[in-house]
Amino acid sequence: MHSPPLLVQSYALVLVVHRTTLAITAASAQAEQHCGRSAQALLRRPLKELFPAKTIAQITAVPPSDTPSVVYLNDPAGWPAGDYQVVIYPLKDEFVLEVELRRKWSHVGDYASRLDGFTRELEAETTTSGLLQRLCDGLTEHLGYDRAITIQFDNLEHSVVTHESRKEGMPSMLDMRFVEEDIPEATRCRQLAETVLNFTDDNTPLHPVVGDVSDPAAEIIHLHVASRQPFVNSLRFLRDTGLSTLGYLSILIDGKLWGSCYMHSIEPLYLDYQMQSFLRVVGRLVQHKIAYHLYHSNLRNKQKAHAVRDNLHKEIIRAENLTEGLTAGPTTILDLIPEAKGAAVCSDDEMTILGETPTQEEINAVVGWVKGVIGEDKKWYTDQLATHFPPAQAYIKKAAGMVFLPLDHDANQWIVWFKPETVRTIVFGSTAPADNPRDRRYSERAVTTQRWSLPWREEEILAIRALRVFLQKVVLQRYSTTQRQNTLLREALDDLELFSYTIGHDLRAPLRGIASYADILQEDYNHLLDQEGQAFLNKIQQNAERMRIFMDDLLALNRIDRNKMVFNSLCVEQLVRRVLADLSSAKYSAATQCDIAQPLPDICGDCNYMIIVFTNLLSNAFKYSARAKEPRVEVSFTGEYRRGFPVFCVADNGIGIPQDQQARVFDLFTRSTNSEGYEGTGIGLALVQRIIRFHEGDIWLESEEGKGSRFYFYSGVRVGVHTGGR
Ligand code: ADP
Repeated sequence: MHSPPLLVQSYALVLVVHRTTLAITAASAQAEQHCGRSAQALLRRPLKELFPAKTIAQITAVPPSDTPSVVYLNDPAGWPAGDYQVVIYPLKDEFVLEVELRRKWSHVGDYASRLDGFTRELEAETTTSGLLQRLCDGLTEHLGYDRAITIQFDNLEHSVVTHESRKEGMPSMLDMRFVEEDIPEATRCRQLAETVLNFTDDNTPLHPVVGDVSDPAAEIIHLHVASRQPFVNSLRFLRDTGLSTLGYLSILIDGKLWGSCYMHSIEPLYLDYQMQSFLRVVGRLVQHKIAYHLYHSNLRNKQKAHAVRDNLHKEIIRAENLTEGLTAGPTTILDLIPEAKGAAVCSDDEMTILGETPTQEEINAVVGWVKGVIGEDKKWYTDQLATHFPPAQAYIKKAAGMVFLPLDHDANQWIVWFKPETVRTIVFGSTAPADNPRDRRYSERAVTTQRWSLPWREEEILAIRALRVFLQKVVLQRYSTTQRQNTLLREALDDLELFSYTIGHDLRAPLRGIASYADILQEDYNHLLDQEGQAFLNKIQQNAERMRIFMDDLLALNRIDRNKMVFNSLCVEQLVRRVLADLSSAKYSAATQCDIAQPLPDICGDCNYMIIVFTNLLSNAFKYSARAKEPRVEVSFTGEYRRGFPVFCVADNGIGIPQDQQARVFDLFTRSTNSEGYEGTGIGLALVQRIIRFHEGDIWLESEEGKGSRFYFYSGVRVGVHTGGR
C-alpha cells in the first residue's frame, strides 16, 4: 500500500473502485462537496449507491488498458444538480475514477472544429519559431488562457522564454530565464511522463485520498489524474504572481524534454478531460513539426560541417605534423567551430595559437587547471569559464567559453577553442531561494551578465568529438607508415653498405690499376702492337671506362642520404631546363625534340636529388627513343594529384618496355631484353626510385613495346621539413 498521503485538488472527486466487487476502496476527502456524501461514508460502499446502473455498466465494460475512457453522468440523483463526466483509468483489479463537472465552454464552442482549424494553422507554419508563436496565440485564443509562453531548455538546464502571447494588461515574460531550481529534475521527469496538465489553485487546501490505495492506483493518481497534487514550484509560482491557473504542454523530442508551453490564467480555469485531449493532440503535432524542422536544419548544418571537416582532414593527412595540419592550411580548426574566435593546439610541447586567444601563459594556466578537473571521458566545455576558473575574468573578452579536447591519454597533446564574451541582459524569472521560504521567489530581477559566451551547441561538440576520433586514427596510421618507411630504409641501407664496401675497397683500386696500365701500354708500347693488339687494348680501355661509370653510378646510389636532404619548393621548369642543358652534349639528345608542357606546378624536394631524377629519366627517354623516326620526349604535369601532390610524367616514343618486364626495370642491374643494343648499367632507375622513396613519393610507368614509355612520379614531402633517416 502507498504510504505518503496522496493529495488532490478540490475540483474533481477521485474514487478507487474494486473491479469485481465494485466496492469503493478509497475516495478523496472533499467527496461531500461533489456527491453529498463524506469520503468515510463512501468507503466499502457499493458503487451503485453513487451512480445509476447504466453508468456502472458503462464503467465495468472498460477492460484494463493504458488509456482512460470517459462516460457521461447527467444530473445523477442525490448529487448537486449538474452534468458530470467520469474519467475512467481502468487497471487490472480496480478502476480509478475521476468525476468532474462537465464544463460549459461558452467561448470554446465546438472544440472538435476548433481543433481542426487550429491544427491546420499549425501545420501551415514553416519555421519552428512561427510554430511556437502560433501555438501561444492559439492557446490563449481557443482555451481562454490569459498568457501562453514557450520555454526552451539550454545545456545548463536553464530555460528561456522564447515566445509569448498575452491578453492586454498581462506583463510580458519574453526572454525571461528560469534557473534549474524553478523547473527541477523531478518536475521535468513528471513532465516527461504526463505531457499535459492544468493546475488551478483556488486557495482551498489539497485533499487526501482516504481508504486503501494500491500501488498501481496510487501511481495513476500521482501521475495521470488531472486533479492530483500540483508541483510545489507551480503552486508557489501561482501564489507569487497572483495567478490562479497554470497549465503546461511538454514538448518532447527524442524522448527528452526539449521545451514546454506554459499557460497562465488569473481567474480559475479548469480544463476538463476533452480540453486536455485537445491540448495533447496539439502538443503531439507541435512536437512532430519541431522534430522535423530540427532534423532538416541539422542535416543542412551537418552537410556544411562535413565539407569543412573533410577539408580539414585532408590537410591533416597531407601535413608533415599535427600542428601544421590543424592550423596552417586554408581550413583550420577555427573553421570547424565558426562561433569560436580563437584556438590553440599543443603538440610535442609546442603551443600554436590561432585567432583571438588569451596569452600562452594564460592558456597554460587554464589548461593545467582543466586537466585537474576533467573526468574520465576527458571532454570539458563551458560557456562561463570565469565562473569555474576566476582568473579567466582577466581575459573574458577573448575567452568567456572554452572547450578542451585532449588528444592523448595523459592530455599532453590537446586542442582548446575559445568563444568570446557575449554581453547579454538576462532577466531571471525567479530570485535565489531566500532564507524565509515565504518570501516571493517569483519576482523579476534584471541581471546584466558579463561572463557568458554563446553556448556550445551539440553539433559543435559532436564535430570536436569526430575530430578527436579522426586524429587518433591518423596518428595510428602515421605511426604504422613511419614504421614501414623505417623498415624500407633499413633494408635499403643494408644493401648499400655491402655495395659501398665492395666498390670502395675491393673493386675501385684494381680497376684504376687496369685503366692506368692500359694507358701506359698505349703510350709506351703501342708501336710494338699490331693492329689487332691495338684493337684489344682499346677494348680494355673502353671496358674499364664503362666499369668506372658503373661504379660511379653505384656510388651515387650509395650516397643518397636522407638526413642530408633539404626540401625546398622547386620550379620544375627551371629544373628540367637545367638538366636538358647538361644533357645537350650527349650524343642522343641533340636530334630529339623535347617539349615541356606548360604549366608545371612547383614541386617540393631536394634540388640536387631532383636533378638526378630528371637527368636519369630524361637521358633514358633520349637514349631509348634515339632510333625512332621522329624521336620525341615530353615532360608534363598530368593534372592529377596523389595524396595532394602533383604527378609529373616524362614520356618518349622510343622502344618501350615489354609488358612482362615493366615491374622489374626499377630493380638494380635489371635491363629489359629489347635494350641490349643500348649502353647502360641498369642502375639509373633504381637510383631514381630510391630518391623518390626518400621523398615519400612514388614512381611507376606505362609502356608499350615499340611505342614508347611514360614514367610517372610525385614527391610527397613539404617545404623545410625533413623527417630524419634511420
Ligand atoms: P640503364 O642504364 O640500363 O638505362 P636504368 O636503370 O636507367 O638503366 O633503366 C633500366 C632499364 O629500363 C633499361 O635498361 C631499359 O631496359 C629500361 N628503360 C628505362 N627507361 C626506358 C625508356 N625510356 N624506354 C625504354 N626502356 C627504358
